[in-house]
Amino acid sequence: MIWLRNLALSKHALEEICMTFDAETVYSELHKLLGARIRRNEPLARHCTFGVGGLADIWVSLETQQELVDIVTRCAERRWPLLLVGNGTNTLYADAGVRGIVARIALNSYTIEDSGDGNALLLAEAGVSWPRLLNDLVTLGWGGLEFGPGIPGTLGGGVISNAGAHHGDLGQVLAWVDVLDVRYAERGSAVPVVERYQHSALALGYRHSRFRTQRHVQFDAQGYPIAAACQLIEPAEIIMQLGIYLHREDPQKLRMVIEEYKQHRKRTQPPQQSAGSIFKNPVGDYAGRLIEAAGMKGMMRGKAQISERHANFIVNVGAASAADVAALIKEAHTRVLERFGVDLELEVELRGEWKVTQS
Ligand SMILES: Cc1cc2nc3c(=O)[nH]c(=O)nc-3n(C[C@H](O)[C@H](O)[C@H](O)COP(=O)(O)OP(=O)(O)OC[C@H]3O[C@@H](n4cnc5c(N)ncnc54)[C@H](O)[C@@H]3O)c2cc1C
Repeated sequence: MIWLRNLALSKHALEEICMTFDAETVYSELHKLLGARIRRNEPLARHCTFGVGGLADIWVSLETQQELVDIVTRCAERRWPLLLVGNGTNTLYADAGVRGIVARIALNSYTIEDSGDGNALLLAEAGVSWPRLLNDLVTLGWGGLEFGPGIPGTLGGGVISNAGAHHGDLGQVLAWVDVLDVRYAERGSAVPVVERYQHSALALGYRHSRFRTQRHVQFDAQGYPIAAACQLIEPAEIIMQLGIYLHREDPQKLRMVIEEYKQHRKRTQPPQQSAGSIFKNPVGDYAGRLIEAAGMKGMMRGKAQISERHANFIVNVGAASAADVAALIKEAHTRVLERFGVDLELEVELRGEWKVTQS
């Protein structure tokens, strides 16, 4: 069977597929299956914490593993471009939006396997939201994820960047992930394959995992960022479920730790819309310190601003465009490189049609 053959397309081939994508037909077909959860010409600004980004031809929220497998299979068979995302808290969508289908992984059940000795394994679907889960775990008296109050994403998105804070990260408590591996079919498989990757296979490091491509920022001649190359189904390794180690903890103690971390965030991070840190911290230094030292704190491009409170945050001060944000990214990257010789790597993910913006 060839259902997923040749999903790794050349840039040109993918562009051609996007141009001929018949959104109306696809919308009617998917509407029969998923009803009101399918939306046409959906503003992506509604689905990311930056509050910027153009339209997705089609937007859908997927609530079960079966729906996820079905849509991946259908997109592969029909050659419909598909982008899978979580809560959009680490994503900058282009002003020209995304061609094809953007699917939010909203699979959000979890169970806790209590081993009876003070430890447990949390089996969580990829779309479980960190803040909601944390609330539940505190009430139940399970510790492990309390370093992350204020990380507003999904657990699946958290694996991609190995999300972390306060000297903790997901990798420290992650046992394994179940991945729907789209590339398997390129090797001749007839059905989508779910494979379990153990912790040791995940290459987890500081804001890094095997699922992340290079993070160096490049810009084209017009000054737009060059997003990483995409495939028909992006990403090719889709996280469906995670196993996370938990341990018994006094709920009162958990509440105190979480409250302390929350207060720290309140003091140090901006309240406006953002996607968290824009750049990764370089070894031995802080991106925010370097950007501030380059004289950029408070700098504005359009309605985007380098935060006054924390220079590694770009904030939307009201109807910013993705181009405004991109202009600040470029400026910060260039200044820090010129003044300090540090080539800052992007923390945030660029998605969508950046090139189209300037044509
Ligand atoms: C105010 C604020 C504070 C933040 N603080 C922190 C912090 O302290 N530490 C930190 O690490 N991050 C922080 N972040 C960034 C962000 O919350 C994390 O990176 C989070 O883990 C992203 O999850 P998400 O579901 O929103 O991912 P999204 O932004 O939806 O997606 C990010 C990338 O992951 C891919 N992806 C998402 N889900 C899956 C999946 N199931 N399978 C495969 N690929 C997937 C998407 O295609 C995309 O490329 C902050 C963000 C904000 C807005």
